[in-house]
Amino acid sequence: MRAIRKFTVRTSLPERLRRLEQLASNLRWSWHEPTRELFREISLEGWRATGHDPLQLLGWVGTERLGQLAADDAFVARVDALADELDDYLSQARWYQSLEDVPESIAYFSPEFGITSALPQYSGGLGILAGDHLKAASDLGVPIVGVGLFYQAGYFKQAISREGWQQEAYPVLDPDGLPLTILRRPDGEHATVSIALPGGRTLHARIWQATIGRVPLLLLDTNIHENDDDLRGVADRLYGGGGEHRLQQELLLGIGGVRALDVYSELTGAPRPGVFHSNEGHAGFLGVERMSQLISREGLGFDEALAVVRAGTVFTTHTPVPAGIDRFDVELVRSHLTGELVPGIDVDRVLALGRESDPNIFNMAQLGFSIAQRANGVSKLHGAVSRSMFQDRWPGFDTDELPITSVTNGVHASTWTSPVLKHLAERELGTLDTTRCDWASDAVSDETIWAARNEMRRQTIEDARARTRVKHERNEGVAPRWIDAMLDPDVLTIGFARRVPTYKRLTLMLHDRDRLRALLTHPERPVQLIIAGKSHPADEAGKGLIQELVRFSQEPEVRGRIVFLENYDISMAKSLYPGCDVWLNNPLRPLEACGTSGMKAALNGSLNLSILDGWWDEYFDGKNGWAIPSAHEQMDAAQRDAFEANALYEIIEHQVAPRFYERDERGLPTAWIESIRHTLATLSPELSAERMLAEYVSRLYAPAARASALATADGHRAGRELAAFTGRMRESFGRIEVRHVEVEGVDTPPIIGDTVLVRAYVALDGIAESDVKVEVVAGRITEEGELRSTRRYALEPIAVEGDAHRFEVQVQLPVAGTFGYTVRVVPQHPLLDSEVELGLVAYAKG
Ligand SMILES: *Cc1c(COP(=O)(O)O)cnc(C)c1O
Repeated sequence: MRAIRKFTVRTSLPERLRRLEQLASNLRWSWHEPTRELFREISLEGWRATGHDPLQLLGWVGTERLGQLAADDAFVARVDALADELDDYLSQARWYQSLEDVPESIAYFSPEFGITSALPQYSGGLGILAGDHLKAASDLGVPIVGVGLFYQAGYFKQAISREGWQQEAYPVLDPDGLPLTILRRPDGEHATVSIALPGGRTLHARIWQATIGRVPLLLLDTNIHENDDDLRGVADRLYGGGGEHRLQQELLLGIGGVRALDVYSELTGAPRPGVFHSNEGHAGFLGVERMSQLISREGLGFDEALAVVRAGTVFTTHTPVPAGIDRFDVELVRSHLTGELVPGIDVDRVLALGRESDPNIFNMAQLGFSIAQRANGVSKLHGAVSRSMFQDRWPGFDTDELPITSVTNGVHASTWTSPVLKHLAERELGTLDTTRCDWASDAVSDETIWAARNEMRRQTIEDARARTRVKHERNEGVAPRWIDAMLDPDVLTIGFARRVPTYKRLTLMLHDRDRLRALLTHPERPVQLIIAGKSHPADEAGKGLIQELVRFSQEPEVRGRIVFLENYDISMAKSLYPGCDVWLNNPLRPLEACGTSGMKAALNGSLNLSILDGWWDEYFDGKNGWAIPSAHEQMDAAQRDAFEANALYEIIEHQVAPRFYERDERGLPTAWIESIRHTLATLSPELSAERMLAEYVSRLYAPAARASALATADGHRAGRELAAFTGRMRESFGRIEVRHVEVEGVDTPPIIGDTVLVRAYVALDGIAESDVKVEVVAGRITEEGELRSTRRYALEPIAVEGDAHRFEVQVQLPVAGTFGYTVRVVPQHPLLDSEVELGLVAYAKG
């Protein structure tokens, strides 16, 4: 018999253990080691059986055990001490509270949030990054409010059949059994938001709140009686279907999300966000809702509202893979953006904000850029790739000038660092914070580091064996004996786990099977591989790749040396990364925007072996791991795979394995340990989400908050001015003409450091001098005549001569060699973040 529905009865705690409730419901436990240890002690068996879920655990152990613990004074004292510590954590000033001129509240919208496997509301990297963002915000005291959807089934659970085929299950979640509380009105009823749908229908959602340390996360849930049956399923699962279903999810996230924030502020008195951050394009409709509010409540025009909204919005793009971007049929979007849904909005103008090269498509990434004055990619390389991908938005400028910056992702160290390493740091270096330790110090010996790495490898292997037993028991009824000896705790262990889109190349290692077999079964220097990954349910080809790997791993010769683990999720990831000596990543460059699994491995002292893509392109230094060379991007796919796979085998055989197996008289791999120390010392502070968040605060949130405050002040005066300015510029900029440019001071060949006077005559055709900037752009010149490594020098207005304005500047020649320059005019306004922003420019004619 199958249950049709599931509900949870929460346990009632003995009075003396009352504060366990607080420790279990604030998700800070997911990264706070002492609190996790407390829960483990309540019942190790229960901790495992519930998949590390404190709320479920408290129900699981039963009243007898709880009664026992309540009678244990020492245990009760620990509960109280941890609860006091949590109270302090929640109330004390932290890093952010020492800053000035920063926003009071920041809204962070994301389609998924991966905080713990106990709240399965994520599918992969994007969601886990969002979870790490919130955790780091909590640790640093950054006043973020997360906004997302509550998915009734979350992402699927993966099982691998005997034949190696991926099977998906969507266990239905019961929100009452999850670490969530419902947002209620003073009359006790749950608060709701609603959005109008075509045909006079309405979609309602209630608002769940998860608490991540200091950070609230609001999740909109459509499974409520107020909705028609079919609408209850709008948020049934992550990235539901395509077309209308997905569009309704995104309208709910963006528009419903802004409304939920309004309700939240009303009910709790929380300050209203001054900055809105859209994590990837899915939440882009948040800009449309905010504009609608400004138009219908404050009487602004469309362009004025757009200027105000842009000032306070940050957009992060996450993928260079076109299939990763949401694109909708234009007419479908048009039919949804009604006057009931977003009063005052001119739908054609909104459609233009999401326009791309195909006129029938509404593109959510384009919408993201349109509503945000500040935008970024997620590694330096991805920033550059995004600038060329979206260069059509700013014609006339070089790609490196375009206003898409980058903030390299980071990962939340206390979530992703093994307790083994944390305890080592605490014991030997006096802190649980492994990102702020002197790992080069003699205070921690080579023996200690190696013992910790051995222990981490042993634990990972134990976990892999346990997971494999479960799989065989399910598929075959019994777990065969060979699993007890599967994977060798002394063998060089390479990990590889990721989703399975084509560009990640799950099966690249299978390119030359004999070569791989030889590596796995090498008599002196064997390697072993632990692999995991989920394929999108609709991606049959991806499932085929998984099957190839599973089949290979079943060959008797390599069985137990290469293992595919099913159901890659946060809880597996946490036990997998620390025990891998090497973390492998072989995407097709440059399609991995950042990649974060290798970062999590590095925080544990694993060495990375990766294509120079995403974060590794930025951080590989020759001592922290290995770079797999990339073949030329123009090479055909098969050749490219062959080239890169061969390079991979070579590196493993001739560099990785020898360094791992070279032992000194104490039996220690000293060169390897040196690399571990170097990795921990140099990478862990850089890869930590705290570094990432501090960058978002100083480079994006604070400037956005200032711009937004300025644009909004005094009845949106500056915002209105910027809109009027933008309109004027768009209308008249094309008439600007740089008539003539002359340079004084180069009659003899100049030498470096000489000064020249550049003079330009510009016809402004009625545009005010103060509305434009005239500048020299100078730099090295390529054979094709293109300027590179440019610098810019602004010219001063000197005089009006006839119908032209004379501008001048003295320029000191900064470089020797062939040097070129041009003169151009761009719009200038204090509320513009970059002179490129409006995509308007007039160049001198050569
Ligand atoms: C970190 C993580 C990811 C993302 O890893 P990438 O290297 O970006 O592919 C995906 N799934 C899980 C469970 C993770 O922990």
